[in-house]
Amino acid sequence: YLNDFNLQRNNYIDQLKNGQNNILVAIRCRPLNQREIEKSEYEVVRILDERVVVLIDPYYESNQNDVLRKNRNKEMQFAFDYAFDETISQVEIYEKTSNFLLDGVIEGFNATVFAYGATGAGKTYTMVGSPDNPGIMSRTMNQLYYLIQQNSNQNHFVVRVSYLEIYNENIKDLLSIEDKNLDLREDPSQGVVVAGITEIECSSTQEIMALLKVGNRNRTKEATEANEASSRSHAVLQVQVEIKQLEQGPQEEVKYSKLSMVDLAGSERAANTSNRGLRMIEGAKINQSLLCLGNCIQALSQIQEKKNSNLFVPYRGSKLTRLLKDSLGGNCRTVMIANVSPSVLTFEDTYNTLNYANRAKNIKTNVVRNILNVENHLNNYAQIIQNLRQENEQL
Ligand code: ADP
Ligand code: MG
Repeated sequence: YLNDFNLQRNNYIDQLKNGQNNILVAIRCRPLNQREIEKSEYEVVRILDERVVVLIDPYYESNQNDVLRKNRNKEMQFAFDYAFDETISQVEIYEKTSNFLLDGVIEGFNATVFAYGATGAGKTYTMVGSPDNPGIMSRTMNQLYYLIQQNSNQNHFVVRVSYLEIYNENIKDLLSIEDKNLDLREDPSQGVVVAGITEIECSSTQEIMALLKVGNRNRTKEATEANEASSRSHAVLQVQVEIKQLEQGPQEEVKYSKLSMVDLAGSERAANTSNRGLRMIEGAKINQSLLCLGNCIQALSQIQEKKNSNLFVPYRGSKLTRLLKDSLGGNCRTVMIANVSPSVLTFEDTYNTLNYANRAKNIKTNVVRNILNVENHLNNYAQIIQNLRQENEQL
């Protein structure tokens, strides 16, 4: 069974790389930090063999008295294209999830990378990282410039960058000091565009990362009780690539592609904090974009797996999905990295994140049940032995 699953999954990855199955969903579990270790928080997340995650419910016993929760299992299993534990390096996560996006981008196809997860789960670490251990954004940009250089004798490339946030379903330009809401419109050759947004031509990863820093200072950060510095907005770095063929045919051909890298707002539910008023509305709107994104990706992955090709994709349900309408599904390549913390104290967030990611792309596994639950194993064996004995006696 496990071999079947591995085969099926390796097929997925090959297809992804060949552009046939363009949605990759990965889980990344960060390590417990020093503070969590000192407070003796223990881990409730286990990663098995790079694809299966097991979540252990610390409330299992008390759930038995709860009508809504008593059908939950003590150990829950989820399968993804990849599941990474805390030993995964920044390089490896880049190579396995985002490296293949760029081959499409320099051919004129759009691509999107999302970091999903609760505040503190590791979204920014995954996307931005630290100066000595950069994340997906700068590694992806390095690859883009590398490919541009490799292809510079056939094509002329122009790279333009914009950086925006979606806060309360409003789009704000993070590279402008003007504090106004921007509108979306559709352009026949460029697809969805944000009207009036600042676009800066960049010729190196360093320039782009510098812009990111400038933009982050403009990001809306409001303290909530759940987390002082929690990010309440979705931050979208968009890299537009203009591709002009040097040797021109009968008519000049210019292709455009877009690479979007999104550090999503914290996915913790508004209900978890005592937010009222503005914060409450904000929570609902964050969820509107996250919910709608999940619905769109779910529909797109079902269409790609040919389960239902007539499915409606509800792009119009939120600003985020309207913005990314031309960058998800179809010929586009989409990567979602769902970040979780292993701590027992973030169990509910982790549970929600795994369910969200699993809904976005449902990979079936009903095979490796109870691998970690030794007690259960022993019980099963005891049962088997007992059955054998009974059979024996009956003979
Ligand atoms: P988020 O953006 O989801 O709120 P952060 O990326 O800021 O979370 O991560 C929270 C903290 O955990 C930061 O101090 C970050 O450096 C640390 N962290 C996150 N992921 C990892 C990881 N994989 N390895 C080591 N430290 C991590
Ligand atoms: Mg963050």
